[in-house]
Amino acid sequence: MTNMTDNINAVDASQLLWLDELSTIEVAKIVKQGIVIILPIGSVEEHGEHLPLCTDSIQPEYVALEVARQTGCKVAPPFRYGIVNAGRNFSGSITLQFNTLFNVVKDILSELTRNGFNRIIVLSGHAGSSHMVALKLAAQQVIQQNGEKNGKQTTRIMVLSDYDFAEELNKELADPNDGHAGTIETARVMDIRPDLIKTKGIPSHYKMPRFEIVLHPEHYFPSGVHGDPTTATAKKGQKINNHVITQVIKLVQELQT
Ligand SMILES: [Zn+2]
Repeated sequence: MTNMTDNINAVDASQLLWLDELSTIEVAKIVKQGIVIILPIGSVEEHGEHLPLCTDSIQPEYVALEVARQTGCKVAPPFRYGIVNAGRNFSGSITLQFNTLFNVVKDILSELTRNGFNRIIVLSGHAGSSHMVALKLAAQQVIQQNGEKNGKQTTRIMVLSDYDFAEELNKELADPNDGHAGTIETARVMDIRPDLIKTKGIPSHYKMPRFEIVLHPEHYFPSGVHGDPTTATAKKGQKINNHVITQVIKLVQELQT
């Protein structure tokens, strides 16, 4: 007869990258070490005919896992929904209301801090302006409500889109006007999940009205693309992903000081 303990072959907690792969006992131990937590946020959004709806989810999740591998930080379970404005009428896009995203992210951040994690990076793959505002306001409310003890700030949260770093390579690797589902995003997905690249993609650029709130934004970019996906390569994608990883590692180190 096999003893129960013979089947126990658990990996050392320090090797695990996802926070929720740890046990409650393991979490209680690492909380005391003041480690950084990365919370990846994605979206369910059209990305042209060539990329999957999860494009904005798999980019920050990949970066977060690599950063965790190299720094020892942990990755919180991702939240794969966001506010999708321009692409909302394309098949498959799912958008949250502003207050929904704000409340969900505020709850997750506030629960992480209640557990004792007070160094957090919110890393979004989607970079829409109202989406980013919801994330920033949620973080701000959490640090205002539970981020201070005896006049000292005890909780630090960074909020960014990984696209902030990816687009730094626009000049070198893409068109300066590259954007949604263009060269940069296509190249990154080619590096991360080449099996999800559906077609070569259709190059196009959209020009939305400057001030008008339109009912059918998709009429301004019927292909769902802003940029040229046909110039993307996996090699470019690897270069961009490595750049983003290096920059996020610097943020982890900044939070550890
Ligand atoms: Zn995207």
